[in-house]
Amino acid sequence: MGFDSHRFAEGRPLKLCGVKVPFGKGLDGHSDADAPIHALIDAMLGASGLGDIGEVFPDTDPKWKDADSTALLAEAMGMLLQVGWMVGNCDITIICEKPKLGPHKLAMREKIADVLGLDMSAVSVKAKTAEGMGFCGNGEGVAAYAVVILDEAEE
Ligand code: MG
Repeated sequence: MGFDSHRFAEGRPLKLCGVKVPFGKGLDGHSDADAPIHALIDAMLGASGLGDIGEVFPDTDPKWKDADSTALLAEAMGMLLQVGWMVGNCDITIICEKPKLGPHKLAMREKIADVLGLDMSAVSVKAKTAEGMGFCGNGEGVAAYAVVILDEAEE
């Protein structure tokens, strides 16, 4: 399983699961701050014994400055394949008070499925509010959880 959160910041595009979501602000971070993809990468790396996203893609590395997180996801998938694993299926939950993500969930599933080379039926993206509570509820930022089940990589 993986978790990530990022704080909203002015002057940045909002990208979630590799999809640009129209909103007045984006998320702050070294890369494009795509919290659900970061949670997914952490779940993948963790389940395959490869460490965590901070070790593999350190935010001190200029290579990942403003990086498109779908590129990090593709790189993480390559690392899994090297040790004999692939993602069997995955489930992502995004917690965000605003904007409403319902209209974007299908595009998010398509994007993740495309990057991982999976059928869309193996990729789930869910979105929830935090009912006005805490840092997600008061609109400070976005949090995301991800769960993956690994399959043995095909030879
Ligand atoms: Mg992150």
